[in-house]
This record gives sequence, C-alpha cells and structure tokens, in this order.
Amino acid sequence: MSSNQTDVVFFDENGLRTDQRKPDEIRPMKIKIGVLSRANGSCYLEWGGNKVIAAVYGPREAHPRRMQLAGKAVIRYRYNMQSFSVEDRARPGPSRRSSEISKVSREAFEPVLFAEDYPKAAIDIFVEVLQADAGTRTAAINAASLALVDAGIPMRGLVSACAAGKVGGKIVLDLNKPEDNYGEADLPIAMTEDGKITLIQMDGHLTPSEFEEAMALVQQGCRQVLEIQKAALLEKFASVMDDEEDEV
Ligand code: UDP
Repeated sequence: MSSNQTDVVFFDENGLRTDQRKPDEIRPMKIKIGVLSRANGSCYLEWGGNKVIAAVYGPREAHPRRMQLAGKAVIRYRYNMQSFSVEDRARPGPSRRSSEISKVSREAFEPVLFAEDYPKAAIDIFVEVLQADAGTRTAAINAASLALVDAGIPMRGLVSACAAGKVGGKIVLDLNKPEDNYGEADLPIAMTEDGKITLIQMDGHLTPSEFEEAMALVQQGCRQVLEIQKAALLEKFASVMDDEEDEV
C-alpha cells in the first residue's frame, strides 16, 4: 500500500481495471486436487498470477511430543514463499510476514476442524507460494481448504478466502499486484460456508462506510470462490461418488 502514487491509473474509460476486470470480479482461478502422492491431501491452485501448492498431513501423532495437546489435536499451518516466487528474490526461511500469515491462517481453520476428536495428534498444513502476484494468503487458504478435504479430514465446511480493497477511490474485489502496491487499502478475509468470518486483516485506510461496502463485496467474493472450490471437488470426486452409488 502506498498513498503517494496518485498518478497511477486504475480504471479505463469504461470503468474496467488494468486487467480488464469489473470492480466486483475476481481473477480466474484454476484448481487441481490431489497432486502430491506423499501427502494425505494436496491441492495446486492458480489465482490470476498466483501459483500455490498446499499439502496436508494427519491427523497423525504430533512430533515433537512436547507439542502434543492432551485434549485435542494441534493444528499447524506453514505459509512459505519460495525465493523465486517474487520479482526481487524473497529471503528463504521464516520472516515476520510469513509467521503472521501462518498464524492467522491457522486460526482461520480452527473453527471448522474437529481438533477435540484427535488428542495428541497433529494436523499439518503446508502451503508453498511458487509465484506471487498479490493475494497469496487468500490463495493459500483456498488451496489448504481443498487439501484438507482431499486428506479426508472431517470439517464443518470449507473455508474460502478473498480480499477487497480501495484503489483510485473505488472499492474493488481481489486486488492484483499494481492495485495492491499502489492502492489505498487491502482487506483480506476468510469465511466459513455458513458465513462466519474466521480471518480479517486490513492494510491501509477505509472510512466506516467504505469498510461496510468492502465487507459486503468481499463476502460476495468468498461465495464466488466457494462455488469454484465446490466445482473442483465435484470434478475430483464425482467419479468416486458414482462408484459408491453403483455399489449400493
Ligand atoms: N511480495 C513480494 N515480496 C515479499 C512479500 C510480498 O514481492 O517479500 C509481493 C507478492 O507479490 C505478494 C504481494 O507483494 O503477493 C502482496 O503481499 P502482501 O503482504 O499484501 O500479501 P498477499 O497479498 O500476497 O497475501
């Protein structure tokens, strides 16, 4: 977010954005579920220029043992950006940013997982950002959600994530890189299927009424993402469901 880039043009004469999207349109998303044979569940997801891969392990005995919780599973989430994923090489290893994203993303999943059913176990979620183009934390959450389903881990529902923001004085959905760099605000959220917000962050400035407008728009964005996630699951598991029906 930079507030002194007022000369950046965000909209053309038809009100379309630099990538030809309407203000309330998300970038195209491509999903492939079950791409890693060694993980219990996995998902590769592209969202605009973002490319992420999520791997899920567990529930399995938590190691090291001191991390075990007597009454429930420990949920661990690691968001990591590959050094080649950004324009200027990202420094390998954890950073303040990646630790923060990992923490809030883990918390985004806690309400939908049945951790209390797996004492002393761990559910491990790893997300690697292979290519970053603004919105990697939300892309990562959307991939992780599907990797958890692929791992067969019971959940109360999917988690879907999206960001809204303010660019050139307007509220828009799913910021691209120039919008993220030079816009006035970025508001990523994650939401459960029944509409509970499990992550909310904000960078920049919004007035109370702009915040309400952005919240309404970003929830719409999460619902669009949810439909895409459900379609990807159907594509992956429809044949399994057909086989099961044949067996009955
Ligand atoms: N970015 C980068 N280097 C970094 C961190 C971020 O180039 O060390 C870029 C990357 O494209 C990222 C974007 O800045 O997607 C926005 O980063 P932000 O921290 O807002 O997180 P994101 O929008 O990816 O969740």
